[in-house]
Amino acid sequence: RSKEGGRNQLSFFTPEMDQAVQERALLDHEMRLGLPAGQFELHYQPLMRMPDGQIRGVEALMRWRHPHLGNVSPAKFIPVAEQTGFIAALGDWGLEQAMRQAKAWADQGIEGLRVAVNVSARQLMKQALHERVRELLAQTGLDPSLLELELTESLLAENVEQVNASLSAIHALGVRLAVDDFGTGYSSLAYLKRFPIGKLKIDQSFVRDLISDPDDRAIAAAVIQMGHSLGLRVNAEGVESEDQLAQLRAMGVDEVQGYLVGRPLPAAELTPRLLSDRAGA
Ligand code: C2E
Ligand code: MG
Ligand code: MG
Ligand code: MG
Repeated sequence: RSKEGGRNQLSFFTPEMDQAVQERALLDHEMRLGLPAGQFELHYQPLMRMPDGQIRGVEALMRWRHPHLGNVSPAKFIPVAEQTGFIAALGDWGLEQAMRQAKAWADQGIEGLRVAVNVSARQLMKQALHERVRELLAQTGLDPSLLELELTESLLAENVEQVNASLSAIHALGVRLAVDDFGTGYSSLAYLKRFPIGKLKIDQSFVRDLISDPDDRAIAAAVIQMGHSLGLRVNAEGVESEDQLAQLRAMGVDEVQGYLVGRPLPAAELTPRLLSDRAGA
């Protein structure tokens, strides 16, 4: 559109852009009010260990219920929070909640349940995240090995020196690191040997058509093989069918996540399943 703008200089700001800017400003404003008002909540999705099928981890996923806007998807509000900088406060709140919940589960006798938390680039760079993690580990008393931070490839490609320092410090605390949405970002792969990564999560876009699309199958198989050669564990996201599960199992995947295993739920609704999973083990 900016190319057409020669006709009228003011048309650089198109109505569509104006609307997007306004919506972003609105969401930002509402998030800043909504966080202290208790509109945010974490849901937890089970991570199923393979091949024994046990639930040894959960991923914390943010939910926002606004009184008038209704449920706003994190796919919508997280990018806005990243753009405006609010992700620093929001992410910190989420990290603390997830760590408290992880400790609560450990205290309830659900041993060895690891909680994964998504971390944005802005959150990693803006504050000294390793210092905050150290502080929260001390405050909550959580075993560091029960915390995993999920990072995206694009994050790993930026400010390599700073990211490396930050991740090394977090790793030194005993906290695990995973690469989320693997295969969708700009990936040099060099970061896999540079950073102390423990897990790759194959993006759900490769899992969706795993059965019908040989290319997706080839990519998934290659990621699993490469991951294992590098000593990494490999998760597959977005598993919705038994066929997908069987295929991934045959390929040797280490962990699956998706609606087939369980949808993200409030902690209180997931706890009975976590308890019975342990009892049956
Ligand atoms: P993600 O980290 O890749 O999380 C997985 C997403 O896939 C979640 O979407 C989850 O609900 C969804 N999902 C799980 N299983 C299935 C399945 O079988 N089929 C399909 N179609 N989808 C499935 P959600 O909760 O909407 O979150 C979207 C994204 O928002 C997350 O992707 C993550 O990038 C971001 N996000 C969520 N919570 C946080 C947070 O606390 N901090 C940060 N920085 N980002 C977050
Ligand atoms: Mg994730
Ligand atoms: Mg993902
Ligand atoms: Mg994602």
